[in-house]
Amino acid sequence: MVRPARYDILFEPVRIGPVTAKNRFYQVPHCNGMGRAYPSSMAAMRAVKAEGGWGVVCSEQCDIHHSGNHQREIRLWDAKDIPYLAKATDLIHEHGALAGVELAHNGAHVSNLESRTVPIAPSVEATRGIFPGTARAMDKGDIRAFRRWHREAALNARRAGFDIVYIYAGHDMTLPVNFLSRRRNQRTDEYGGSLENRARLLRELIEDTKEAVGDTCAVAVRFSVDELMGERGFTADGEGYDVVEMLAELPDLWDVNVSNFDNDGATARFTDEGYQEQYVKFVKSVTTKPVVGVGRFTSPDTMVSMIRGGTLDFIGAARPSIADPFLPRKIEEGRFDDIRECIGCNICVAYDRAGAPFRCTQNPTTGEEWRRGWHPEKIEVRTTNDTVLIAGAGPAGLEAARALGQRGYSVILADSNRELGGRVTRESRLPGLGTYARIRDWRLQQLRSMRNVQLLPGNEVTADLVREAECSLVAVATGAGWRRDGVGRHHLAPLAGLDRLPVFTPDDIMDGRLPAGKVVLFDDDHYYMATVLAERLVTEGCEVTFVTPESMVAAFTQYTAEQRRVGRRMLELCASVHTSTALSRTEAGTAHLACVYTGRETAVQADAVVLATSMVPRDGLYHELGQWTPEEMAQAGVRKVVRIGDCLGPGIIAAAVHSGHLFARTLDTGLTDWTPYRRENVELDWDQPFPAGSADAGVGV
Ligand code: ADP
Ligand code: SF4
Repeated sequence: MVRPARYDILFEPVRIGPVTAKNRFYQVPHCNGMGRAYPSSMAAMRAVKAEGGWGVVCSEQCDIHHSGNHQREIRLWDAKDIPYLAKATDLIHEHGALAGVELAHNGAHVSNLESRTVPIAPSVEATRGIFPGTARAMDKGDIRAFRRWHREAALNARRAGFDIVYIYAGHDMTLPVNFLSRRRNQRTDEYGGSLENRARLLRELIEDTKEAVGDTCAVAVRFSVDELMGERGFTADGEGYDVVEMLAELPDLWDVNVSNFDNDGATARFTDEGYQEQYVKFVKSVTTKPVVGVGRFTSPDTMVSMIRGGTLDFIGAARPSIADPFLPRKIEEGRFDDIRECIGCNICVAYDRAGAPFRCTQNPTTGEEWRRGWHPEKIEVRTTNDTVLIAGAGPAGLEAARALGQRGYSVILADSNRELGGRVTRESRLPGLGTYARIRDWRLQQLRSMRNVQLLPGNEVTADLVREAECSLVAVATGAGWRRDGVGRHHLAPLAGLDRLPVFTPDDIMDGRLPAGKVVLFDDDHYYMATVLAERLVTEGCEVTFVTPESMVAAFTQYTAEQRRVGRRMLELCASVHTSTALSRTEAGTAHLACVYTGRETAVQADAVVLATSMVPRDGLYHELGQWTPEEMAQAGVRKVVRIGDCLGPGIIAAAVHSGHLFARTLDTGLTDWTPYRRENVELDWDQPFPAGSADAGVGV
């Protein structure tokens, strides 16, 4: 396929100081939960993006010193950290991309749980890490030492093969931005007070880095131009503007966004593609240096408009590069329909925040590149003569059919519904979840071009149909249903009194069966479902009382970086919000709520209750087939029946997609006696000497 000429601009090389990016596709720094704990996985994940055509592939933030230590991120504390980073840069270079590293010192943002070093900050400040504590104010000696660490890390970054070295002054997290911040910097010396003084450290770091490595490496600054908190923080028409204007020509590249991370990485529920343009648009008017910005860009036309409209020089992407590492290549080759668009759900962020290697709802190969050898575009051709019947075309069934089809298997995908997509189709109609339809649409688009896959919408799979289908493998992907009895994490036994007033589940509401009047909505799921139902019900005129046993609304959404927005929306929309409270029992016209600590009950008026507690597998077909004798199996020509997705273990959509993909790769989803992937093991280094000078207190940190 040939791409239309209007996209050519995206493939122009762009100079960044002493280096040149081959095109305008720029994978900005992003965390991944792998870092130094899973260095091979991290390196392979970055390499796949380079292979997919990104002109620049950056690391996550890279700690430069033990006084600002993250638990999982990569490090350049000293030369010992070079080898695994060099592996990543080698792999990135193999595909012609530039490798960038985001040098970071997290100041008062971390608790230094590993090093136990007292955190440092511009001024005395309570730390924002997990543990209570206080960062001490840096004196001039500390500032000099910090500059030295940063310079040394830049030199080691060059030794590790990086082409772009960042000074990370973004997201309200690191020392340079905390010095810049009026809120956080209360110093009275030449590093505090006026903006010029507060910017002194950032200016010095840029100069130091240029002096150290600037002849061969580009020096980039990552800065959040607006903190979305008005005068209390940077604004694009206030100090955010002034900082860029003041330092405009010093770095080789500006990587700009909004702060804090919850704003920069906002979900699709709350922001649209290109949502940062209004904030970062000014940057190019005050600097001649190239500018990279983000905004969950997945549309080539939007990308072109960002360049032509003078907002950006580089199309920055974190999440779109995770969901589709081959996005640039697909645009280059004019394969627009093949782009697997990010849905903006932030499950990737959630895994990282939970301390695990990240996963992606759309791209089941993310994080599996090294340990399982999974590639996002390539897959092993079929190794058996199986023909496969898949019952259920939700995310699990669709992904299984797509990947099996790609392998060359002959597949029948049947769903009792006329409309395919299962939960994804249903949930995408709920407020704010429209992008979830992309999970279905991309897969259907791929499936429709496969001659070896037959789609049978409106066909319920029964045991009889399995007998007739002449398929040797059956995958039951029939999903799960929401419980109607209140059982979930809090209640392990059914709630009393549910027969005395109308009860609704999320399935009812998605099917258009709605309550009316005063509704008590009990959320024991803690993700998006209850809160989007609340939005829907309020729109329908219901008066919603929101009840959750957690101490905050939709507690899991802390991990997806949207809890504050979700919590605020519930407080704005609902008649009342009860946290640390459970629905304890119901009777006609009344719901009783109990405090989870004291058990003390309050009665509230209720015309109906909605229970978003937990799901149970829809596995009747699987168990029916499981009762077949070996003879019946042989007669039907079936050698194996498996269940996948929510039918196996109801959970998040990403888990269902993974389950379908895993089945397609292995034709099995059962537990094995061995670990089914390569593991990264820490090497014992017992005899290493203590570092020279470790007995003295050093610079006091
Ligand atoms: P998952 O998330 O595991 O993919 P979903 O609940 O999204 O599960 O999808 C399950 C799909 O299975 C739904 O579209 C449902 O209509 C379909 N389904 C349920 N039972 C059958 C059956 N016996 N035959 C065919 N399709 C079925
Ligand atoms: Fe996008 Fe969701 Fe994948 Fe993250 S997990 S990259 S937000 S689709």
